[in-house]
Amino acid sequence: MNLTVDKTLKWMTRVNEKIQANKAYLTSLDQAIGDGDHGINMSRGFQEVVKKLSSSHYETVSDCFKDVAMTLMSKVGGASGPIFGTAFLKMSMSVKGKESINQEEFTRAIDDAINGIIQRGKANEGDKTLLDVWMPILRVFQENDDINWNDADNTAKNAMEATKERLAKKGRAAYLKERSIGHIDPGSVSSYYLFQSLAEVMTK
Ligand code: ADP
Ligand code: MG
Ligand code: MG
Repeated sequence: MNLTVDKTLKWMTRVNEKIQANKAYLTSLDQAIGDGDHGINMSRGFQEVVKKLSSSHYETVSDCFKDVAMTLMSKVGGASGPIFGTAFLKMSMSVKGKESINQEEFTRAIDDAINGIIQRGKANEGDKTLLDVWMPILRVFQENDDINWNDADNTAKNAMEATKERLAKKGRAAYLKERSIGHIDPGSVSSYYLFQSLAEVMTK
């Protein structure tokens, strides 16, 4: 893989399109097991991300990631702003100064992002949070030297769907205990859109 600045901008544009198109769906998922603002949070955040990226000039992927992080942290409240913000900040630090990144570098960046998410939110895989999508995605990148984007998309999709049967141990959904079972985790859906968008942009 070769993720350039141009591809990164296209990636964020694509994520934003998916989030705007599914804003009501994300909100309905969060109404079932949270406070019903996930669609609103993500929609506002990525709208601002695209605005920021399109009004700036970037030499490096790390600078793009940094602005994504700063925008999400400053414009999105709730758990998802700091969590996605931390993820992109760690990715930015991981690929610091690079004009484009290969799979090995991207894999390390995802790994660093996950460690940041865990540090911040103290969740483990299986707790019915967005980590349940990020962890399987990390493994796909680690286990396949030349990533198959269709596999990556399927992995993220299956992982997102699998959150439905889990019991929430972190985030607002954890207050519902057994009643959280039977509903997909909203942050896992937006994480799926993130990786699905990357797969789409990288195969174009
Ligand atoms: P809030 O719950 O503050 O209203 P959002 O609704 O925007 O924030 O985001 C909720 C999502 O954030 C959840 O669906 C879950 O995927 C993710 N999340 C919540 N808490 C954690 C945590 N401690 N670690 C990782 N992800 C979390
Ligand atoms: Mg919420
Ligand atoms: Mg909230």
